[in-house]
Amino acid sequence: MPNMQMQKTPMPEQDPAVRARNFDEVARGYTWEMALNEAGRCLNCKNRPCVSGCPVNVQIPDFIALIAAGDVDGAYRKIKETNALPAVCGRVCPQETQCESKCVRGVKGEPVAIGRLERYVADHHGEEQISAPASNGHRVAVIGSGPAGLTCAGDLRKLGCDVTVFEALSTAGGVLSYGIPEFRLPKSIVAEEVSRLVAAGVKVETNMVIGRVLSVDELMEQGYEAVFIGSGAGLPSFMGVPGEGLLGVLSANEFLTRINLMKAYREGYDTPLPKATRVAVVGGGNVAMDAARCAMRLGAEEVYIVYRRGEEEMPARKEEIHHAKEEGIRFQFLSAPVAVEGDEKGFVTGLRYVDMKLGEPDASGRRRPEPIPGSEHTLSVDLVIAAIGNSPNPLLRATTRGLEANRKGCLVVNEETLATTREGVWAGGDAVSGAATVILAMGAGKQAARSIAAHLGLEN
Ligand code: FAD
Ligand code: SF4
Repeated sequence: MPNMQMQKTPMPEQDPAVRARNFDEVARGYTWEMALNEAGRCLNCKNRPCVSGCPVNVQIPDFIALIAAGDVDGAYRKIKETNALPAVCGRVCPQETQCESKCVRGVKGEPVAIGRLERYVADHHGEEQISAPASNGHRVAVIGSGPAGLTCAGDLRKLGCDVTVFEALSTAGGVLSYGIPEFRLPKSIVAEEVSRLVAAGVKVETNMVIGRVLSVDELMEQGYEAVFIGSGAGLPSFMGVPGEGLLGVLSANEFLTRINLMKAYREGYDTPLPKATRVAVVGGGNVAMDAARCAMRLGAEEVYIVYRRGEEEMPARKEEIHHAKEEGIRFQFLSAPVAVEGDEKGFVTGLRYVDMKLGEPDASGRRRPEPIPGSEHTLSVDLVIAAIGNSPNPLLRATTRGLEANRKGCLVVNEETLATTREGVWAGGDAVSGAATVILAMGAGKQAARSIAAHLGLEN
């Protein structure tokens, strides 16, 4: 008999007042008893709606049944058949809009906590046997070591290809390493996933900016038969308001990258970051939540999220908004920045914003925010962080012959094969879709690996 408990088994979490000042993981993970209890809630539905909600088709009821049978290693192997990064996905995937949104237990009560179970399995499985398949002689270059690039590299290595991942930054992992903070996704987990790929024979070369150090043409001249571009969307957008050049205005991208790669989350590191007591973060997505929660952990007394729409329209995950509120982040809804104010030395003193009201829905389906004339206010702050979106960096398209991009700077690909307009080059993840999610990037990495394998005449 399934466990008919209506609510998910709660996730143990650090106390908000304590965690708001440290970078340790917020969610502590299920115990075995909790995992077993939650696994018992799955009905093992015949038509498996949850599987269709997973972009990489993890066989969810099967892995949950293996947990219920006490076989955590078997559950891990089952997940790994289709998902190369379960410890990452169990932590950061927006399950509420994917697999869990399709779970029939969600019709009356809460869905099965699929993500939490996936995390449990990834954190508690036994020693994994990693094999490094013999080379089939085909060389493939992967540009970018985010979830798209790592997945593509892993799948092609399994087929025997000699795969080299070229990463511009000093650390592999893409946004998983330089964007998502330690308290949501510990760096050690990403490093472990990368080391598994290396153990399987994938070569990773860091500090290699393709388009600068080497071009795509040169990679092909060196004998790479196929190139996959998974270079993400790392170019931040700015607000376009007066005062944006003042000292104390940063993009969330720069703020989070410094914290993550220069280890501001650890004691004893003197990371070059402005010391701020009152911080305004402009934006309403996951990136804005991460930046605000990091600012709080670095010692700010007051942190504001300034967002031009209302709470309902916020694109951030509900769980992240809830966690941010618990940690004391203040939300200034229906407020749009009009200027950053500064002192005579050029340092930020405030963010000037105008009240907004919501009009008719726009192209995104969300109600369009409109300024209310004569309603300007100043929020007194010493740091302003812009978290209003990212687009793909133009370097690769500017330096690669025949590589087309659309007007948003996203690479143009064939939807089925992910082939770009340049022969021998495939692309996927945020570089193609614009800023999206980890699991969609992984799905694209898989899809491209299948196309590249077919191009090379390999069985997959
Ligand atoms: P990326 O992860 O961006 O990786 C691209 C890599 O390519 C980078 O390492 C970059 O340095 C490298 N690169 C770029 N140009 C070159 C070049 N010319 N040569 C060599 N290397 C290059 N998604 C979720 O699902 N859940 C979340 O909770 C979540 N939170 C997020 C929080 C933040 C702060 C951010 C920024 C994003 C978040 N996302 C989240 C989105 C998610 O991380 C991305 O959609 C995903 O990482 C995209 O994967 P990717 O492989 O396409 O690109
Ligand atoms: Fe289990 Fe929910 Fe999937 Fe049904 S839909 S098999 S209850 S996880």
